[in-house]
Amino acid sequence: MNNPIKSLFDLSDCVLSHSEVVQSDTQRPYHLHVFDYAGEIINVCPECGSKMYSHGKRSATVTDVPADMPVKWKINIPRRRCSACKALWLPTIEGIDEMRSLSSRAAINLTQRSIRDAFENVGEDYMLSGNTVKNIFVDFLKAYEQRLRFKVPAFLGIDEIKVKKLGELTVITDLEHRTLFDILQGRNQKSLTEYFMNLQGRENVIWVCSDMYRPFEGTIGEALPNARWAIDHFHVVMKANEAVDDVRRSLQDEMTKKDRIKTKRGLAYTLKTRLKDLSAEEASKLREARNNPKTAPLIIAYDLKEDFFNIYDNNPTSIDNAKKDFEDWEKSISKDDLYEKFRTLAKTVHNFEEQIFNFWNCPIAISNGFTECSNRIIRENNLRGRGYSFEVLRGRTLYRKTNFERILSNGLVEFGPPIPSDEAVFLFEGPEDDALDYECDFDPDTGEIFN
Ligand SMILES: [Zn+2]
Repeated sequence: MNNPIKSLFDLSDCVLSHSEVVQSDTQRPYHLHVFDYAGEIINVCPECGSKMYSHGKRSATVTDVPADMPVKWKINIPRRRCSACKALWLPTIEGIDEMRSLSSRAAINLTQRSIRDAFENVGEDYMLSGNTVKNIFVDFLKAYEQRLRFKVPAFLGIDEIKVKKLGELTVITDLEHRTLFDILQGRNQKSLTEYFMNLQGRENVIWVCSDMYRPFEGTIGEALPNARWAIDHFHVVMKANEAVDDVRRSLQDEMTKKDRIKTKRGLAYTLKTRLKDLSAEEASKLREARNNPKTAPLIIAYDLKEDFFNIYDNNPTSIDNAKKDFEDWEKSISKDDLYEKFRTLAKTVHNFEEQIFNFWNCPIAISNGFTECSNRIIRENNLRGRGYSFEVLRGRTLYRKTNFERILSNGLVEFGPPIPSDEAVFLFEGPEDDALDYECDFDPDTGEIFN
């Protein structure tokens, strides 16, 4: 059947009454299309079987996808009322989302754009407020949550990031495919255990990689029966850098102000640089510091840090050699109080020995997945997120093109809407993450930061 209204507006059972451009002093001009319902009307009451009579009309006003200017529809809908039981009847109009006052296709388009564009910009095209757009987007995310599920990763990363206003977030990644799996608010054993207990397919997780957070032990034991726990080396060696910093600060406290400034400016950054990455100038600075009795202890700390990093670097495959190197390293720490933080690090390694050395047993490189995913969230947040809600940050990060495409191309959708389909809302064309700019403006209404 060739219905021009259906093909032009994707609206069923309606005829176009008239169209006009509405002009006023207070609003920008917009297209208004007025439709009349022309579908089936019932004459017999579905409740009691008595006759139904016409009972006036109601009109629904919805916003459609904008063209050269915003577009609104007004649809006149007949009402029927039962003569006996007084039941009211109204036809259901296919093609509109009356709850949201949008055409169905506008609901899809607006949501697609909201993943990428500032709410205020989307709203301007639609002649809606930024807040309205945001609320529609959040509603949509909640509804989609029930209908789209990603496959539970075999190699699951748990990391933590801090985001202004939202506090601690737990970032869950698929380390094998380097995709973002989920983001949760907060981080404690109870809520994590609950989350994983409710995860269908939790028995598919075979490795959990994370930082040194003891409560994970309970969560994994309870909720992820087939998983082993490994600590990512990045989170371990970071502690060696912190220990060098601690030595530097202790030494500076004893120095004259002049020496202090010199050391801070000259060495803080260099001390964190790996030996193999030092420039000639930095290397000579360290040599100088080594020969100066005042700063020599700092270079001992530097060497300890380097030796600690080398436990990983020199033993990419042999867990036994790594353990041996760690033992030697621990013995090499001077008894001096100055190096207390290094002894603390050694204690930490003992406390998490099984998980730290599991790094060598875990069959995939686990570090990159963390960094990429966390960077993406931080970037999204810095871009325009500082004020907006957790749901928005989560939706925009999870369903951003780069992540979603990687999920699709790796076949990681457990179930969800047929893809592609007319509701494949996440398959939008947008700029690559890297093309985004860091220059931001702030929207006082939605709290959103955008460029
Ligand atoms: Zn009736």
